[in-house]
Amino acid sequence: MVLIDVSNVARTLDGMKLTYRKHTFNFNIPGGTSRGMLHTKNSWILSLKDDDSDFIAIAECSIIEGLSPEFTEEGKYVQELDKLINQLKDTSLSFFIDKDSLVPKFSKNGLEFLLEWVRFPSIKFGLECALLSLFHKSNALIFDNEFSQGKSTIQVNGLVWMGDVSFMQKQIEEKLEQGYSTIKLKVGAIELSSELKIIEGLRKQLSSDKLAIRVDANGAFSRENVRGSLHELAQLEVHSIEQPIAVGQIDLLRELCHENILPIALDEELISCYSYAEKQTLLQTVKPQFIVLKPSLHGGIVGTQEWIQLAENNGIDWWLTSALEGNIGLLAIAQLAAEYDLKLPQGLGTGSLFSNNFPSLLVLENGYVKQVL
Ligand SMILES: [Mg+2]
Repeated sequence: MVLIDVSNVARTLDGMKLTYRKHTFNFNIPGGTSRGMLHTKNSWILSLKDDDSDFIAIAECSIIEGLSPEFTEEGKYVQELDKLINQLKDTSLSFFIDKDSLVPKFSKNGLEFLLEWVRFPSIKFGLECALLSLFHKSNALIFDNEFSQGKSTIQVNGLVWMGDVSFMQKQIEEKLEQGYSTIKLKVGAIELSSELKIIEGLRKQLSSDKLAIRVDANGAFSRENVRGSLHELAQLEVHSIEQPIAVGQIDLLRELCHENILPIALDEELISCYSYAEKQTLLQTVKPQFIVLKPSLHGGIVGTQEWIQLAENNGIDWWLTSALEGNIGLLAIAQLAAEYDLKLPQGLGTGSLFSNNFPSLLVLENGYVKQVL
């Protein structure tokens, strides 16, 4: 955790006024996921200003029903947002400029305030984004870096949604035409044999040095069939598999990571780890090959940064992924990713999912995302 040199406070936000409104996104094509077909999904849009200026920061609290740990029902979620409004009225939060990176960091009182919201990662993420935008007095700037200045790009994977074989095949063709060199497929939804046929067809067209194939099982395999499934996927030179088994089976997960039939990426498994110690224990016990980080689910910005630091300390690679955020949240995740020296394609290409999305500052070109000014 970063300690503050109080002589170095860059800006203090006082008298903060927060408001929120619900936004229901409509899917262009109903999104097939392991939790069934999604037709709509909700986010709460925060507007935050402080006494110091008329600028209003806009940020997004994005939830996925059935997955976001803090979301049980709308009424309770809104009560938490109301609680946050009241807390912010009486709080002043300061930032300081880190002398090595020149990045604004939350000061000690800011980090302590955010820590109180650690079990509400979507709200914490929205709040962190709003505070950083307020600091920069720009909704185009959550992190000020080469990416947000339009000078660099981020490589991303193309996401193929679940559906029948012809629907998946059609999406794959589109992704290849669009120039992606990494695609991500959901597996474990239809018959594995059909999914393997799709991957096999893909491998016949493009070898693993031309096209990386990531798969995500969202916990679909059982103790009985997981090893066989991993062997079949490994034969097709799949890059990695997200969450092959359902959460909470730590011993089996550790064995699978150790056996490394196919490199394993943890995703849902990370959701219930809130403290630094819990994160450290999970990574050191399971020793996964990768972790997949979603700020709206995995501890907001500060929590994600903590995961990255721990992953790197333990020799584990990682990538960031959006979790059905609209364009407001997506921009923040892309700018957060750009704070790091990225080794792997990120999972950021979901901006065109909704028919009533917000205007986007991100464009996708040949498998790379860029911020336009
Ligand atoms: Mg996943």
